[in-house]
Amino acid sequence: MIKKNKPGYIVAIDGPAGAGKSTVSRQLALNLQGRLLDTGAMYRSVAYFGVKENISTEIGLAKIARSINFDYDVKNQSLIVNGEEMGQRLRTQQVSGLASKISAYKGVRQILTVRQRELAQSWARSCPVIVEGRDIGTVVFPDVDYKFYVTADPTVRAERRHQQLKKQG
Ligand code: C5P
Repeated sequence: MIKKNKPGYIVAIDGPAGAGKSTVSRQLALNLQGRLLDTGAMYRSVAYFGVKENISTEIGLAKIARSINFDYDVKNQSLIVNGEEMGQRLRTQQVSGLASKISAYKGVRQILTVRQRELAQSWARSCPVIVEGRDIGTVVFPDVDYKFYVTADPTVRAERRHQQLKKQG
């Protein structure tokens, strides 16, 4: 049983696409009165600025990953990127495609991994932090107290992804 509102701990939520990680993490963060670190949004943010600034090299994107300022909006449970609420700007097809591509770049992964640790550890000084995304329980936070692997039947995952894409037009 996870203790409510006890500062100083991190919950890692890992699992494949379409399994429902985001839904579970969002609800958990609400229940625990904690913060949600959506690591997918970090990859998407790097992709967003890559598209905006027409940068597609690994070195250029790694530089973006290092320089973005990440903050948190408690009310919307969302990541604030360079002072802005990004909303659907992180969900366009172009940004999604590039986010997926750059998530394979070692240079970008290494920087975002360090930044995920820094952000979560800093937030965890005052509240529980739910960190959600690929590799979170294995690579980014292998030693945290609470780790969950969320998965679902492939048909359910495919259907969920389909609905998400449909909703985004
Ligand atoms: O989860 P979401 O779809 O927002 O993630 C955006 C992209 O970043 C996806 O391609 C996902 O595989 C990748 N990603 C990643 N590692 C994470 C979170 C997301 O490679 N920790």
